[in-house]
Parts: sequence; structure tokens; C-alpha cells
Amino acid sequence: MFWAHLTGLFKILAGALLDFIYPPYCCLCRSRLQQGEKVVCEDCWGEVKPLGGPFCPNCGYPVEPDADGCPMCQQRGWSFQRVEILTDFEPAVQQLIHLLKYKGKRSVGTRLGVMLAQVLRGRPRWQKADLIIPVPLHKSRLRERGYNQSFLIGKALGEKLRKPLRPELLVRKRSTRSQTKLNVAERIENVSGAFRVNHPEQLDGKRIILVDDIITTGATADACSRILVSAGAKEVLVAAVAAPINP
Ligand SMILES: [Zn+2]
Ligand SMILES: [Zn+2]
Repeated sequence: MFWAHLTGLFKILAGALLDFIYPPYCCLCRSRLQQGEKVVCEDCWGEVKPLGGPFCPNCGYPVEPDADGCPMCQQRGWSFQRVEILTDFEPAVQQLIHLLKYKGKRSVGTRLGVMLAQVLRGRPRWQKADLIIPVPLHKSRLRERGYNQSFLIGKALGEKLRKPLRPELLVRKRSTRSQTKLNVAERIENVSGAFRVNHPEQLDGKRIILVDDIITTGATADACSRILVSAGAKEVLVAAVAAPINP
């Protein structure tokens, strides 16, 4: 009898502890999570809407329907060939990225990587890619956060597309200033020379998918692509979760 009570008590405590670790409420809308839902409810995930176009015929960046040219291609010549953005950086997506980067919600990165894979799966050019490399964090940032959010997105993407994830081939050699308050020219200067490659022979002639969480000016993706191409990569395709489409 005593043991039965104790087991019951233990179950209640374990349940309370689990609820504490994984609160049964959606982190976005605070509604109660249903069975099988984790961190964010399905209704909120439904807010993440893959972009429908139009896209720049040259680089794939989303453009305004009546736009005169593409903001990415107009700025400068990119060292990557194509960019694929899953969705607009609107409030629900901003919150998801915040959960992923600053609240330790790693499963959000996995789900976003799966969604990105669904978009890329039917694209022959992306199917030809040899390997996937996430935009690296500097080791001090990695230590602080405990994981690289782009690695988590890239890992799920790689599993779905059946392509190897090779994070060790690209390294961030110095910690860059936060980019938030910098203009395009300052961002390019800030990140140029911030990366180095490992084992360049393993990049030689390879088609690479570079994974990032958010693309703003493209300066980081460009700096990474530039060094991958100079190390011998045949082409770099950039896959990102979000970009501010109408900043
Ligand atoms: Zn919700
Ligand atoms: Zn373009």
C-alpha cells in the first residue's frame, strides 16, 4: 500500500518535472499543446508560409511583383549561385528564430530544416549538391549558446535530402560584431576575412549547400561562399529559413 502511494506520488512529481522542462503550452500563442506537439502548436507552425514568388530568375531571391530588378543582384556580384528562402521574416517566424537562438529550443531548428527540405526536394540543381555546410559560429559564441542553430537546421535538411553535413570544413576564425546596426557596406567589411576552410581538398569541385537561419544583406552568406569557392568549390547554393522581404 505504502509503495503504491509512493509510486503514485513519484509519477505526479515526474509529470510535474516534465511539464516544467517542457511546458505543455505553446511558446508562441500560449494555448495548451496537444499530444505530439512540442514547444510550438501546429496552428502557429501553420503561420510559417513558404514563399510563393516571384523570384529573381538569376539568383532565386524573392522580389516584388512589379520590381525593377533584384535587390541581391543589384548590390553586387554574389559568390553564391542561388539562394532559397523558406519564408518571410514576419512576427511568428521572428519568434520561432528567437526560441531557437536564445531559448534553447533546438527542436524548432529541426522542424525548420525539414520544412526547408520540402521546398528543395523537387529542385534538380539542389539535388545535385554534394554536401551541406552550416554557417559557423565562432567558438566563443558556440560555447555560450551550446549549439549552432544553423547546424541544427542543416542536420535536418541533410537527413531529409540524404546529403552529408560537413560543419568542420568551414570555421569562423574571429568573432564578428553584431550586424544589427550596420549598413550593407559595413556588414561586408565586418564579415570579410572572418572565415577559413579546413581540408580544402575535400571541397574541390564540390557543389555545396550553405545553410543559414536569416539572410539580411547577404554579406555573411557571401563571405562564406567566397572562401568556399576560392578553396575550389564548384558552386554554392544558399538555403536560409527567413529573410525580411519587405524591410
Ligand atoms: Zn501556438
Ligand atoms: Zn537576384
